[in-house]
Amino acid sequence: MPTSSLDLQATSEKQYIYTFTEGGAEGDATMKNLLGGKGANLAEMANLGLPVPPGFTISTEVCTYYYEHGKTYPSGLLEKTLPEALASLESTMGKKLGDPDDPLLVSVRSGARASMPGMMDTILNLGLNDRTVEGLAERSGNPRFAWDCYRRFVQMYGDVVMELKPVDARHEDPFEEILDRKKAARGIELDTELDTNDLKELVGEYKQAILDATGMEFPEDPLEQLKGAIGAVFGSWNNERAIIYRKLNHIPGYWGTACNVQAMVFGNMGESSGTGVAFTRDAASGENIFYGEYLMNAQGEDVVAGTRTPLPITDLKAQNPAIYAQLDDIRMRLEQHYRDMMDIEFTIENGRLFMLQCRVGKRTGLAAVRIAYEMQQEGLIDEKEAILRIDPEQLVQLLKPVFDRQQKEAAISEGRLLAKGLNAGPGAATGKICFSAQDARELSDQGEQVILVRIETSPEDIKGMAAAEGILTQRGGMTSHAALVARQMGKVCIAGCGDLKIDYRKGELHINGAEQVFKEGDYLSLDGTTGEVIAGKIETRSSEVIDVLETGNSEAAMSETWKIFNQFMRWADTYRKLRIRTNADQPDQAKTAIAFGAEGIGLCRTEHMFFGGDRIDSVREMILADTREERKTALEKLLPYQREDFYGLFKAMGDRPVTIRLLDPPLHEFLPHEETEIEDLSRKINLPLQEVLQRIDNLRESNPMLGLRGCRLGILYPEIPAMQVRAIMEAACRIRKEGHNIVPEIMVPLVSTVGELEITGEIIHKIARRVMAEQETGINYLVGTMIEVPRAALTSGDIAKHAEFFSYGTNDLTQMGLGMSRDDAGQFLPTYQNLDIFHTDPFCSLDQDGVGRLMKISAMEGRKTNPDLKLGICGEQGGDPATISFCHSLGLNYVSCSPYRIPIAKMAAARAALG
Ligand code: PEP
Ligand code: MG
Repeated sequence: MPTSSLDLQATSEKQYIYTFTEGGAEGDATMKNLLGGKGANLAEMANLGLPVPPGFTISTEVCTYYYEHGKTYPSGLLEKTLPEALASLESTMGKKLGDPDDPLLVSVRSGARASMPGMMDTILNLGLNDRTVEGLAERSGNPRFAWDCYRRFVQMYGDVVMELKPVDARHEDPFEEILDRKKAARGIELDTELDTNDLKELVGEYKQAILDATGMEFPEDPLEQLKGAIGAVFGSWNNERAIIYRKLNHIPGYWGTACNVQAMVFGNMGESSGTGVAFTRDAASGENIFYGEYLMNAQGEDVVAGTRTPLPITDLKAQNPAIYAQLDDIRMRLEQHYRDMMDIEFTIENGRLFMLQCRVGKRTGLAAVRIAYEMQQEGLIDEKEAILRIDPEQLVQLLKPVFDRQQKEAAISEGRLLAKGLNAGPGAATGKICFSAQDARELSDQGEQVILVRIETSPEDIKGMAAAEGILTQRGGMTSHAALVARQMGKVCIAGCGDLKIDYRKGELHINGAEQVFKEGDYLSLDGTTGEVIAGKIETRSSEVIDVLETGNSEAAMSETWKIFNQFMRWADTYRKLRIRTNADQPDQAKTAIAFGAEGIGLCRTEHMFFGGDRIDSVREMILADTREERKTALEKLLPYQREDFYGLFKAMGDRPVTIRLLDPPLHEFLPHEETEIEDLSRKINLPLQEVLQRIDNLRESNPMLGLRGCRLGILYPEIPAMQVRAIMEAACRIRKEGHNIVPEIMVPLVSTVGELEITGEIIHKIARRVMAEQETGINYLVGTMIEVPRAALTSGDIAKHAEFFSYGTNDLTQMGLGMSRDDAGQFLPTYQNLDIFHTDPFCSLDQDGVGRLMKISAMEGRKTNPDLKLGICGEQGGDPATISFCHSLGLNYVSCSPYRIPIAKMAAARAALG
């Protein structure tokens, strides 16, 4: 039961503010949508009886209201509800905001439903002004502490609310510049060496800088400060970096953020105070150890901002065993309660511990699988939950390349190891140095691999971080902005590399102990697993998991990574309903796919077989043939090649099903373009150059993707499918005679009307029967079609009467369904995504509302007339987790994707099955 003075509000009108205090809160962890993650978990920790400073949360509904009503608040919120909530907090704390003798100070923090580290705004020490600072000095008996708080408050408020910011990424923060100048003038290095007088001067200089730049006085009235800070927090929901972050992480704009107002506790009261951030397990490797860092005599932002390099949490054990033991106990309680790895923030005020935040911790893909696996082993979660804990895309990190060991050892023995920093994001990256996020984006757009090198990163750098292969920072710990964001993006990251000296203005990187000066564009290699920074380029090589899968490497098979990966694959196999096939055309691809767990081939694009060796000449001869006889002669030359192709593929696949698609692309795609190549071809096929040029010209089409391609080719030139079907069936008979139970699935592309499938089906059956008679062998083959033209999707009931299977070609179905050329959409899709017309690229993740609807209609109507119809997907979206989940909901039999996506597809299918 709510017990606060806000009861009245809760019963008579909509509740917008929820209070929390140690031992009791109006909210709990289930109320994330309303209170944001931070607010809900503060309430939960308070309910658990953990030491949480009291406060209140203004709900996300206020944020939504704010944006829906021209940046105004619900009526009465600022005038009545907020003052009431404040009064309740003041009475709990026994202090008043703005009281010159004993002021209440508060923090004001954002907190959305999903955590968005560092993307939105926070203000600490609110309530200080020229009068209350004296009261705080008096009460704490520590004037230096009081003025340090005030200095920090003016800096944060000036930045966040009054918006005095760096001119651009190449300039330092204006407040930091003033601070650096002060330290230089005083001949000191650390902020902690500033005395009370310095801090007083700094407050004056900061305020003057704000006035000069904005024309506005710093507000002295604490209530005005509070309203300004709340406005800034809600305003920060729509700042550029938050919007970019939301896009990258698929967080919808309408969620809004909550705003948490909480009594301050102080980590900067002297050497018996401090602050820290920690994870209940290692967020980089997943190891079950207490992992984090802290700083004594510091406030929260000092640890994350990376301006001072913090100490590992284990040092706290020696420094303050009692606090460490209490913290370690809270760590265990939180893990038992939440049954997950948690990320916590704490402050020690004069030897007393306070919990400021807890949330499910961000982790690398490697850590995610290890933590889920070990928590299952420890009995905290079951295997279903373990599967649901893994974002399938995280498995990509287990398949990520590492440095070629020999090359790396050689680089180190050549003295190219430059420095060591914190191994904040595992993996190997090599690329060209860029010193700004903007440059990183530009260079990466030119197709270069980039290493972003910064003194420290800030949320403004997010786009550049996304573009870079790896991130290297001079300052900051394992929980600095660079480290957190890089891990979440799955980027290689080395943080806190103190030996670096970066000169943004000159565009130079100097490294202590190294003579070489590195400039923009020079190569650098980062080993994010060990923290080593190495000069020059180093080739990367596949991960242990890839080693085991591709080469059966027995040493790699002993590794923990492989063991855990393998266990997840087995769990996924237990629960998934969808079969997982692969798109492959060559025996070696098929072998890789089987090693990754493919259960069949969902798409063999036969055109890829035509480019090898001298067979392309016969293909071209066939295409340029003037008469059926000429064409047949050329096709006869191709037959043995195709037969061998299919034999190789069937052999690699054993008894697994193989879907072979008949020739699909426009014929001109096979023809030469260079003059010398055309001359060469004219000699080889013994046709005058002019004639060759004329025939090539005749094949030209205005819109080839909608021209003579797919089944239309076989209807005009039946001898082409006839040759391919003969090759398929002859290879199948040979395999059958060798004792394998092959079931070739012959697939007709680009069907839009049932008549096309009927005619092509007749050709297929005629040749198949003929070959089986010649070979005296029975083959259980299937005939089916791609569904990749909208009309085929809408008339699937008729088409299914002549097909044993459908495979959704969602590349073409998207292209034709949206009327967007798959080859040209790159020009406008990024803009479409920026404008939120599309949330994701429909060529990567299925447009479920439109193209998905076509699939749904097709699957329903197809199964109505042919209940045994087998259904699959073979477009690129078949390897995308969201699409896989959709395919599961449609009841498809399988998805088909590239070999390296199979583990991701398996996990996605298992998660879909587990709901
Ligand atoms: C498709 O269109 O989805 C498909 C798989 O075929 P292709 O990409 O070869 O056109
Ligand atoms: Mg297609």
